Amino acid sequence: MHKLSRATLFLNGLGRCLIAEKYVSAIKITSRGFVCAEHRDESGKNEVYDVIISGGGLVGSAMACSLGMDPNLEGKKILLLEAGNKKVMDKVPDTYSTRVSSISPGSASFLTGIGAWDHITQMRCKPYKKMQVWDACSDALITFDKDNLEDEMAYIVENDIAVAALTKQLDSLSDNVQVQYRSKVVKYAWPMPHQAADSIPWVKVTLASGETVQTKLLIGADGPNSMVRRALGIPTVKWNYDQSAVVAVLNLSEPTENNVAWQRFLPTGPIAMLPLSDTESSLVWSTSHRLAEELLELDEESFVDAINSAFWSNENQSELIETAGSLFRSALSVLMPSAGSPRQLPPSVAGISPKSRVMFPLGIGHASEYIRHRVALIGDAAHRVHPLAGQGANLGFGDVACLTKLLSQAAFDGKDLGAIQHLLEYETERQRKNLPMMAAIDLMKRLYSTNAAPVVLLRTFGLQAANMIPTLKEQIMSFASK
Ligand SMILES: Cc1cc2nc3c(=O)[nH]c(=O)nc-3n(C[C@H](O)[C@H](O)[C@H](O)COP(=O)(O)OP(=O)(O)OC[C@H]3O[C@@H](n4cnc5c(N)ncnc54)[C@H](O)[C@@H]3O)c2cc1C
Repeated sequence: MHKLSRATLFLNGLGRCLIAEKYVSAIKITSRGFVCAEHRDESGKNEVYDVIISGGGLVGSAMACSLGMDPNLEGKKILLLEAGNKKVMDKVPDTYSTRVSSISPGSASFLTGIGAWDHITQMRCKPYKKMQVWDACSDALITFDKDNLEDEMAYIVENDIAVAALTKQLDSLSDNVQVQYRSKVVKYAWPMPHQAADSIPWVKVTLASGETVQTKLLIGADGPNSMVRRALGIPTVKWNYDQSAVVAVLNLSEPTENNVAWQRFLPTGPIAMLPLSDTESSLVWSTSHRLAEELLELDEESFVDAINSAFWSNENQSELIETAGSLFRSALSVLMPSAGSPRQLPPSVAGISPKSRVMFPLGIGHASEYIRHRVALIGDAAHRVHPLAGQGANLGFGDVACLTKLLSQAAFDGKDLGAIQHLLEYETERQRKNLPMMAAIDLMKRLYSTNAAPVVLLRTFGLQAANMIPTLKEQIMSFASK
């Protein structure tokens, strides 16, 4: 794995967006082709697919549905390979799962288009209309809400339910998409871009069972430790954050409408409470590894006390910041008397669901190339982000929508689906979207990971000012809701 500096990550990605596309394309086409070729398999009788998707998590399953639904791709041979078991859900579980995702309205309409959203809503999903984000080191806050209360800000969906819904949709697309569960890929062999005597024409995929298959286009959707990405030697900039996320299902003290998502930035990391029902919410508490381990060890009562104190305690506030913040707020309200949103108080927590506490180490990662000859990376295989903005899966669905559009057009034009020209368009389009989001999330993480007074003052003023400017808030919401 190549190691590049962090600056290179952003320069590399942003550079691609800024330099003239044709020039970039020419360089990329010549530089991408040179991957190792392997000799043709002795038997030479492997089945050839038009598209193989490696990895059937949220993003890979969505990719399979999306391709299976596209009329221009009818008749193409599409295969989804997933190492794990098939996730069927005959009945909605009585208890909520700990792994949830905040799904943006843009992702919800994409999932509607591929026929999965109805299955999700028939099972279980909780819309919310408002989000309050505030700083534990000052009184500064920002509230995002929709003017029109008919509109949802986003939806909390359990990951298991989303995958089960996509699996159900894939069952109904079995004429167009084949799916093999418990099929772990153990080896890839790559073709040369131009036919050479000793090269294979397609990507060859070897499964743990020993079976081999070939494909004209391999889509790597195999998660943050992507074997596809590693096997291709794609330079990836990644680092682990000094934080882990503790997740749990919370029981609220009393029933509420519960249609607000809450997030408070503590100096050790953000704590978020996302609505699941009138009486339950999902906790995502990103904090130092040491504190995360301690939180997992606490008895239930102490854990609940720690959550309530993380949302309510003023122990990180100082008089200086409070005075400066309230002076600035007063000055702003003189200038803009009707602007800003009042502070709301989060619900208090009374308990947690049994065995719902789990911890995940957090990190960031970005593949500097999303594509190679006959290969494209999507989802966490291409980019991994901190969960503080709830964007990982949403960015992945954006990849799927973009790649489907380009492959559909290529099929309509009778082009080779694995050809690098339209894959390059995919890469350019997605890096242009993903990199600014990744940079913004990383900046937020850094900005709020300190209680140094000058930084706290700066962000207090910034947050208060942003809360007063509706057009800015709308722009932030629109940036995050695609
Ligand atoms: C605490 C936390 C909270 C989050 N909250 C949100 C949120 O609110 N909103 C949001 O949008 N995102 C959120 N995310 C991010 C989101 O969960 C991920 O971005 C998303 O799940 C990535 O999906 P994926 O399909 O790309 O990868 P994965 O979910 O990792 O799936 C990869 C799949 O590939 C399979 N696989 C791997 N290797 C092989 C192989 N060799 N052969 C065959 N199959 C293979 C695996 O079995 C797996 O099923 C959160 C993440 C965390 C950690």
